[in-house]
Amino acid sequence: MRDVIVAANWKMHTTPADAGELATTIAARTREAGVTRVICPPFVCLAAVRDALADDDPDVAVGAQNVHHELVGAYTGEISAPMLAGLASWVIVGHSERRRDAAETDELIGRKVGRAIDAGLRPILCVGEQLPQREAGEQEAVVDDQIAGALAVLDPARLVPAGLVVAYEPVWAIGTGRNASGVDAAAMAVAVRASLARAGIVGGAEAIPVLYGGSVTSANIAEFLTEPSIDGALVGGASLKPDEMAGIVARAGITARARGLAA
Ligand code: PEP
Repeated sequence: MRDVIVAANWKMHTTPADAGELATTIAARTREAGVTRVICPPFVCLAAVRDALADDDPDVAVGAQNVHHELVGAYTGEISAPMLAGLASWVIVGHSERRRDAAETDELIGRKVGRAIDAGLRPILCVGEQLPQREAGEQEAVVDDQIAGALAVLDPARLVPAGLVVAYEPVWAIGTGRNASGVDAAAMAVAVRASLARAGIVGGAEAIPVLYGGSVTSANIAEFLTEPSIDGALVGGASLKPDEMAGIVARAGITARARGLAA
């Protein structure tokens, strides 16, 4: 049975002075058997969060929000996968805000996933359509292109063993307060796995956890987690609020127990 995962994307919030305390507060409020928790702070806060959690709750994983597609070189301001050793064990790749602001292409995102895997980082590959694409009924084709484009530069035999996770995040739902319906998100999770299978993933697309992301809160998380094809959430704005995270992870705990994951 696939893992149940709640990943917190703190985006460009927190500082090294306050990130550790927020991480331990969230950790203490989200102890739920069978739920994998990941906190992804800004790069400069990774060490503070790692240190705070190591003392407090080593079960919470630390993730980065991006990684460069090269190992080393003249890339001012960038961070490579080997640089994250000891700081993070997960990484978000291809978030729509980076596709938008840094013009990241599917091929580049695929290379980032490859670098992450080489460095032993567990990648969360983000995909999702824009609002006009959804309105035109193109969402499955868009996501299929994104997955095919990223996987074209990857060895499909490495993805299941590396623990690849896909986050379906419709762009129109990110930070807008307008979430997808559970039914629509579930249909997209099924479509994501069909795309992974078409792209030739070895070991079974059914093994890949698919998260929903886009204005997830404690009030709407149940709508997603009652869907068997959805394995958790990538949470942005609400992930900075301990009360919200407590509610979201508590609901994830119900799914983990239903799946027999809570030992
Ligand atoms: C995200 O940053 O991936 C995200 C889903 O943000 P929000 O929950 O704020 O929509």
